[in-house]
Amino acid sequence: MLELLKKSAMEQSRALKDKEVSAVELTKASLERIKSIDEKIGAFNSLTEDIAIKTAKEVDDKIAKGEELPLLAGVPLALKDNMNLIGSKTTASSKILENFVSPYNATATQKLLDNLIPIVGKANLDEFAMGSSNENSAFKKVHNPWNLKKVPGGSSGGSAASVASCEATIALGSDTGGSIRLPASFCGIVGMKPTYGKVSRYGLIAFASSLDQIGPFARTVEDAAALLEVISGYDKHDSTSLKLPVENYRSSLNNDIKGMKIGVVKELTSEGLAEDVQKAIQNAIETYKSLGAEVVEVSLPNLKHSIGIYYILATAECSSNLARFDGVKYGHRTTDAKNLLEMYCKTRAEGFGPEVKRRIMLGTYALSSGYYDAYYKKALQMRRVVTEDFIKAFEKVDALIAPTCPNTAFDLGAKTEDPLAMYLTDIATISANLAGLPAISIPAGFDRDGMPIGLQIMTPQLTEAKLFNLSYKFEQAHDYYKQLANI
Ligand code: GLN
Repeated sequence: MLELLKKSAMEQSRALKDKEVSAVELTKASLERIKSIDEKIGAFNSLTEDIAIKTAKEVDDKIAKGEELPLLAGVPLALKDNMNLIGSKTTASSKILENFVSPYNATATQKLLDNLIPIVGKANLDEFAMGSSNENSAFKKVHNPWNLKKVPGGSSGGSAASVASCEATIALGSDTGGSIRLPASFCGIVGMKPTYGKVSRYGLIAFASSLDQIGPFARTVEDAAALLEVISGYDKHDSTSLKLPVENYRSSLNNDIKGMKIGVVKELTSEGLAEDVQKAIQNAIETYKSLGAEVVEVSLPNLKHSIGIYYILATAECSSNLARFDGVKYGHRTTDAKNLLEMYCKTRAEGFGPEVKRRIMLGTYALSSGYYDAYYKKALQMRRVVTEDFIKAFEKVDALIAPTCPNTAFDLGAKTEDPLAMYLTDIATISANLAGLPAISIPAGFDRDGMPIGLQIMTPQLTEAKLFNLSYKFEQAHDYYKQLANI
């Protein structure tokens, strides 16, 4: 069965249709693999075995009746544990929500269930999706399947590690400043953040609402494209959801890219890169040239401000979003309070971890009277300036490429004492969230220690089809995606 688990989602779908394996067998194989190896990886906070088996049985019923299967039906999926799924705990890897049971399904989750995709478990993350290494989970760290001493990247580290280790075939994550693309890059898989508004955020525990976006993880570009087709679409429950038809991205994956213009982001490739990452970018440039694309250097002069802008806006928004966790409606409530104010304070002091507290304090400061104009308002204005840089760049090129991260996965513990060093990990990913752009990380080689390197591609808003097309062409020109972590 391991051979089957290693196959892509599309291959698994075919195997199900051809009756080489049943959906229940495939789902059980995934659950068994999790039970046998996840102690070493830590990708799952909980398993949702009953839900997965029930869905798999529905798939087998349909197959037995000769009915058409929905896209990706029967393919085992890991759901980041900040998305609601009825019948599961949704903890956001926080003590404050340790025993919180989802009262309703997130829209993205409902779409998975509608397509009969078995959800095998809830994937570990940095607490409330705040982090870049998955070391901020209140429960346990996630280990990188390529080298268990290294981080998987964050915040969707559990989702990425589960797919890289073939515990699950596909996964969902959320990306506020890189939380899908960074772990995809560190774990050698595909991770994609759609245009802001493509996927409903209803039922996703909010971190920074103007930046958050749900997206797919997979081991191939085609699988990621298929999963985005399943979860995207307008939703009246999310006021920022875009009223646009669901597209078929798979039909244009293999389009010729001859004559396309690709910009290499100067600010992300000229200095500070690990040598092997630099080589991988050079290799990507050569690949695109050999596929007939024109490659030029493009400058995004204000990109250097993006970390500062992000860590004001994201913390400001999170300080407001997390105000609801006060012991009244959701999750943990202290047992030891003499009055209401003490109940609020103790509940939050006991329930939130150190990084979440740091962010709430920073955000509250940036929004406080007297500082609002100097920090929050300035950051909003600068967000527009960064967005303008992209608009200008896309007048000249179809797509931008850069590394997903200047370095490969680092050792567990290497940056936990230095929050600023951790924040700098996001230098290449954050600007796509600020500008609301679709962006992807795809496998682009390995460093001298055998750790995966990710290539990031960004395109204008709502041009996901082009993004997947460029990704697929690169993927098929190499066999990086065929190499799997040996675990
Ligand atoms: N690493 C970034 C942060 O800590 C991004 C997190 C995310 O995208 N959710 O905020």
